[in-house]
Amino acid sequence: MYRTHSNGELRASDINTEVTLAGWVQKTRDKGFMIWVDLRDRYGITQLIFDEERTQKSVMETASKLGREFVIQAKGTVIARESKNPNIPTGDIEILVSEVTILNEALTPPFTIENETDGGEDLRMKYRYLDIRRNPVRENLVFRHKVTMAVRNYLSEKEFVEVETPYLIKSTPEGARDFVVPSRMNEGQFYALPQSPQTFKQLLMVGGMDKYFQIVKCFRDEDLRADRQPEFTQIDCEMAFVEQEDILNTFEGLTRHLLKELNGVNVAEFPRMTYDDAMKKYGNDKPDIRFGMEFGELNEVTQHKDFNVFNQAELVVGIAVPGGNTYTRKEIDKLTDWVKRPQIGALGMVYCRCNEDGSFKSSVDKFYDQEDLAKWADITGAKAGDLICVLSGDTHKVRAQLSALRMELAEREGLRKANEFAPLWVVDFPLLEWDEETERYHAMHHPFTSPKPGQLDLLETNPGDVKANAYDLVLNGNEIGGGSIRIHDKETQALMFDYLGFTPEEAKAQFGFLMDAFQYGAPPHGGIAFGLDRLVSILGGQETIRDFIAFPKNNSGRDVMIDAPAVIDNEQLKELGLQLNLKS
Ligand code: ASP
Repeated sequence: MYRTHSNGELRASDINTEVTLAGWVQKTRDKGFMIWVDLRDRYGITQLIFDEERTQKSVMETASKLGREFVIQAKGTVIARESKNPNIPTGDIEILVSEVTILNEALTPPFTIENETDGGEDLRMKYRYLDIRRNPVRENLVFRHKVTMAVRNYLSEKEFVEVETPYLIKSTPEGARDFVVPSRMNEGQFYALPQSPQTFKQLLMVGGMDKYFQIVKCFRDEDLRADRQPEFTQIDCEMAFVEQEDILNTFEGLTRHLLKELNGVNVAEFPRMTYDDAMKKYGNDKPDIRFGMEFGELNEVTQHKDFNVFNQAELVVGIAVPGGNTYTRKEIDKLTDWVKRPQIGALGMVYCRCNEDGSFKSSVDKFYDQEDLAKWADITGAKAGDLICVLSGDTHKVRAQLSALRMELAEREGLRKANEFAPLWVVDFPLLEWDEETERYHAMHHPFTSPKPGQLDLLETNPGDVKANAYDLVLNGNEIGGGSIRIHDKETQALMFDYLGFTPEEAKAQFGFLMDAFQYGAPPHGGIAFGLDRLVSILGGQETIRDFIAFPKNNSGRDVMIDAPAVIDNEQLKELGLQLNLKS
């Protein structure tokens, strides 16, 4: 037996017990006549003691050779510790070692394996297996396990069945590029890795599974943005014979259960907001509603004076920064520079100080008097001591800019508290979205989403106005889930493909299997998918999803530990029918 106990287990009540422990050497303290070793495993740290007077010479000698991260086994007796360590659960005892075996030596690790490490991000990714030995990383993985267990238990209890769907498939459009896999046996042909199991879960509904879920890997070849992973995990769900309301209730239940189980937080009924309202009030379809700072639209109270910037703008819109009147002129100038950065793209920022005495002082005093400014304050909800920040321009752009400013200010002011949870359903998404690049409408969610009842005709006249039975679950300003009620008849699905620019032949080639299935008694159905990585990181009170993935890719989509992606040799390429034209 390698060990009788873990390193987190022994207490004062175990004194005089003979034990065998195994683990990694966290650190050693060698005073010659006495040597202490901190032995670590997943469960904790136990102190070993070797003492000239009580320990055999050969054992003393081995102990003196132990280096950091050596793997050892130690036998001995549990004794009371002279100077107790109240910081660890095993701090009352230590092991007087009688036998020690080095199971494996270790090179000096490239960074310290402690809660706070000296290793930079890249180094830790390269030696991820060492990083995983550190408490914070290990705890995150254990936390993730708890979340997935809670999800499985909850859904299973509600009669959902976890079904695996294939990874080697044909494209499922979720708005990204596919990762493709060449087929050796079908030269010149490729599988695509699923961007989601969307079509399969719909086919499971046609198959009568009724309630499906799967904790599943999805693959999207997207331009990498910070904290995006090319492969990520979804909690993917689908239900038959449901309306939007049923889905919202079921998955509000799941989310509430998770918040309670994992965070001990009871959340009241989740508020709901339409997409249009979210855009108007927060400039964003995933608003963080833990703090106010709602948008106030100021066109009516600004476009009657000689200030041309505002007069020419499609939208003039402001927010009140609580307590912002304390910002110095320099700080406000910096804020203006911040919104003018190319990433944000505002042309400038107008501000108005709300003084304690009820008066106002704006950067456009030339054009607006106290009475005007009082209206700004009224509309943005600004109180004495606040600062009103106003942006103007094209509606779409200016909302995005002000939304970025709102989040930045909230971050700076500490209003985004990790231990506060504010879920929100955003509903009534548009069915289609105009894409500037391709100058075409795209499905905002995906092409299987059904329009709101009775809105199909609008597709002809005002496609941009058609609303969908689509919804997102937002938590603390992050989209943690999204889904829709699906189209379940062939005609409507064919019509959708047509509007999205597929020829009937293309639609048949790509999605014929689904439209065929719809002809064999497809029940009404709908579903949702949660981004597990993000959900876990938010419940875990942290922002980066990488910290909750055992072996993540870096920001360039590389696995720096195994060094992937990598070139493959010519033989393999040939076998796959992929010989490149290599001109040497
Ligand atoms: N397949 C969708 C997604 O990955 C989720 C859904 O509609 O259920 O976003």
